[in-house]
Amino acid sequence: MGPRRAPKETIMATERTLSIIKPDATNRNLTGKINAKFEDAGLRIIAQKRIHLTPAQAGQFYEVHKERPFYSELCEFMASAPVVVQVLEGENAIAKNREVMGATNPANADEGTIRKEFALSVGENSVHGSDAPETAAQEIAFFFSGLELVG
Ligand code: ADP
Ligand code: MG
Repeated sequence: MGPRRAPKETIMATERTLSIIKPDATNRNLTGKINAKFEDAGLRIIAQKRIHLTPAQAGQFYEVHKERPFYSELCEFMASAPVVVQVLEGENAIAKNREVMGATNPANADEGTIRKEFALSVGENSVHGSDAPETAAQEIAFFFSGLELVG
């Protein structure tokens, strides 16, 4: 008899998601503390770099939000200081990362989440995380080449 296998529906997918440690957090030297939250949750940082976005690059990344009232404020903020862009890998990484991040507005974020502990406001909320498989793939490709994703 071969090894026991879990029923198909209980097998979780290994996913990759794009994470950004935002300027409010890099300014306060929180990269290591935030990375510890990811690693403690079982997310593996398989690629990472610190870059300083131009406002135009921030605008391109956040294009989906261009009609929202906070768009220009958001782009200016994201270009105000270095960010750390990273690819997180793990089982259900997209949802798991969003869980570790907490709600967009830190006032609504659960105890123990990154945004509850570190975010300054709804705008300066320390981290970005992709929200779906399609956006994760697009956002990873925005910052990383295939050669940089070694697993
Ligand atoms: P999330 O980052 O949780 O996916 P959204 O995609 O809705 O949230 O928004 C993208 C980013 O825009 C937020 O993380 C935050 O930095 C900023 N933002 C969202 N809502 C507001 C707001 N009401 N005022 C200012 N900035 C906001
Ligand atoms: Mg979002």
